[in-house]
This record gives sequence, structure tokens and C-alpha cells, in this order.
Amino acid sequence: MQFIEALKLRSKLLFLFMLITIGLILVGVMGYLNINSMKKNLDSLYFGSLVPVIELNEILQIYHGNIVSTIYKAKNLEISSSQTSLQIENALMKINYQWKNYESHFKRDEELQYVQYTASEIKATNDYLQEILQGIVRGNNLKNISMLNFEKKIEHIHSTLKKLINYEVEIAKYERKNFLNIYDSIIQNVGIILSLIIFGVLIISYYVFKSIQNDHTKLEITTKKLKRANRKLENVSYTDALTSLHNRRYFNFIYDRELKRAKRTKSYITFMMLDIDFFKQYNDTYGHIEGDFALRSVAKVLKDSLKRPSDHVFRLGGEEFGVILIDTDESNSARLAREICDAVRLREIKHESSNVHEFLTISIGVVCCIADEALNEEVLISRADEMLYKAKEGGRNGYSITTNVSETTIKHTEEIGA
Ligand code: GH3
Ligand code: MG
Ligand code: MG
Repeated sequence: MQFIEALKLRSKLLFLFMLITIGLILVGVMGYLNINSMKKNLDSLYFGSLVPVIELNEILQIYHGNIVSTIYKAKNLEISSSQTSLQIENALMKINYQWKNYESHFKRDEELQYVQYTASEIKATNDYLQEILQGIVRGNNLKNISMLNFEKKIEHIHSTLKKLINYEVEIAKYERKNFLNIYDSIIQNVGIILSLIIFGVLIISYYVFKSIQNDHTKLEITTKKLKRANRKLENVSYTDALTSLHNRRYFNFIYDRELKRAKRTKSYITFMMLDIDFFKQYNDTYGHIEGDFALRSVAKVLKDSLKRPSDHVFRLGGEEFGVILIDTDESNSARLAREICDAVRLREIKHESSNVHEFLTISIGVVCCIADEALNEEVLISRADEMLYKAKEGGRNGYSITTNVSETTIKHTEEIGA
């Protein structure tokens, strides 16, 4: 069944459909052929045996009933000679008519001889009756007719016809038996062929469905792999290669989401903008590679300082970082900003050319407020930028915080770093 595996899903379904169609056509053809043969059997049973028996019985009845009673009535002068001749004439016509019908049916070779014999006997009897009829027409009365002779003739034709009837009845019994046997074998054949077709269709359907299921499983595995690859790709597209922090792209996405949520719940949102102090000089003094190491160290400090799942840290670009905090009030935001400044400085990354400290320091601009519908993200970012500028102006190595987008408070941590 390997060829089924090789087919595509649509071809597999088409194959199954064709298989069922062929099966149905075969069953149809079988049914047609068998019903046709049953029809022939029924036909031969009816017209070959039953109808001939009825016709022969009819002839027998006419001889024995009509003719005998007419002759007796005529002899006893119960009916007139014209009535007698009319009745006998009618009876003979009926006999000829029924015999012709009987002869027109199919006859077996072995019965032909006896049929011919019966025909000649009927003819002889009818000729004898014709003679009587002509006598009546000529005006003779029936007194001259020997009743013994008449009865003998009737008895003889009666026994001849009876033999033929018995033969036909035997044939009918034989045909019936034959018909029942054929009927049984037809039922048996149809049953066997139908079972074979159903079995075949079931086996092939099983393979087709198994193969479809395999395809489906493969598809599921591929989809899972694809989803994983997509997730990886998404992570890569949201991650900064140098620091492994989330990048600007992810910041835009999270910033928008968290601002909307804070607006909805009317809760605190804090945005920090962080910038390394005199980093240009750092690069100039220690080189770009050392500069990159310093950037990684600062990123590590930020990650270690902000551990809550709701805290988000980003590298916004160059030596600038961003932090988003949720449900953190002004004092806690300020405390965190101070701790970050301290943690970076306490990392003790040598910075000889810094004008504020012997170690690398950062400045932070902080905006902390309860979000309302009027809060606008551009204002929030530009206020954080202003706060950063103020922190730089205020001597660096510190933070500047505002809770009101229109009012600014400057705080300094120089004493901590000193
Ligand atoms: P300030 O205290 O006013 O911020 O002074 P600054 O020297 O830090 O000022 P500025 O923002 O103008 O300088 C940023 C410098 O950061 C410039 C560039 O050499 C350096 N920089 C930006 N991105 C990278 C980076 O990916 N790696 C390294 N090594 N340096 C970078
Ligand atoms: Mg800068
Ligand atoms: Mg700088």
C-alpha cells in the first residue's frame, strides 16, 4: 500500500471515492444480472408450467363438463337440436383455441411426442363430435348414437389429457425446485461478492485513512516546529543582540500596552530614561570593544535591579536604556532610580576620563504619575527626556523625577556616589 502513501491528500480522497464508486457499480451490475436471471426463471415457471396446466384443465373441463352435459340433455330432449349444435360448436371452438395457446408455449424435446399424440387424440375426438354435430344439423336425432361409444371416447381423451396435465405438474414441481435452488445460489453469490467488495473497500479505506492520519500528524509536527521557529524569530526581532535586553521595537509594543492598561485601571505608571555619563569619552579612552563590555555590564545591573515580572527594561539605542514600572508610586520609583544609579556606580567600571566619578555612572530621567485619559505617550517620553537632561545638568550620576507632567522636582544622589 506504499503507493497510497505517495499520493497527495486530494488524490487519496479521490482514490477512495473512485473505489467506493467502482464497488457500487459492481454491486449494481451483479444485482442486475441476477435479477434478470430470476426474471427468466419466474417467466419459465409461470408460462412454461403454470399456464399450460390451467389451459389443459380448461380443455378437460369442456370435454367432461360442457360436452357431456350437452349430449345428455339433448338425448333426454331437455334442449333443442339447435341449442345442442350451438353449444357443441362453442365447446369445440374453445377447445381448439385453448389447445393452440397450449401448443404455442415452449415444449421440451421429451414431451413433444406426447403433445403430438394428444393433439391427434383431440383431433380424433373433435372429428367424432363434428360427426354428431353434422347429424344434428341434418335433422338426425341422438337416439342412434351409442352412449357407450361416446363415453369411451370422452374417457379416453380425459385420461390422455390427464397424463399430459400430470406431466406438466411434474415439470412445474421440477422447475419450482430448480428456481428455488437458483434463487438460493443467487443470494449466496450476491452475499459473497458483496462481502468481498465491502471487505476490499474497508481494507483500502483503512490504508487511505491511516495515510491521511500520518499526513495530519506530520502536518501537526511541522506546524509545531513552525510555531517554535516563529516564536524564536519573534524573540530575536524583539531582542538587542549586544545586551540581550528587549529592544526598541519591543519597547514600543510594551509601552503602548502598559500605558493603555494603566489608563484603564487608573494606576501608577513610571517611565525612566537612562543614559551613561560621558560615554563618548569612555570609548575614546578604552576603545569600542571595552565600551560594548561596559554596555553589557550596565544591562546586567538593570536586569538584576528590576526583578518583578511587571518591570520592563529595554535598550533604546546607543548607550540609552528605558525602564517601565507598573503600580509603583513616586517614592518607590525614586528609591529604585537611586538604587540603579548606585548599583551601576558600585559595579566599579573604571572611567578615568569621567568628570563626575572615577567609575562609570549613569543619569536617569523619571516620570511617575497616575495614568488618566489625558495622559499622552509623547508627553510622557519628552518629559522623561527633560528629566534626564535635568539630571545631566544637575551634575550627572543621579536622577531627576517628576510626578506631574507640567511640574519638575530635581533630586540628586551625588552624595551617595561621592
Ligand atoms: P553624556 O554624559 O552627556 O551623555 O555624554 P556622552 O558622551 O555619553 O554623550 P553622547 O550621548 O553624545 O555619546 C554617546 C556615545 O555612546 C557615542 C557613542 O560613541 C557611544 N555609543 C553608542 N552606542 C554604542 C555602542 O553600541 N557601543 C559602544 N561601544 N559605544 C556606543
Ligand atoms: Mg546619549
Ligand atoms: Mg551619554
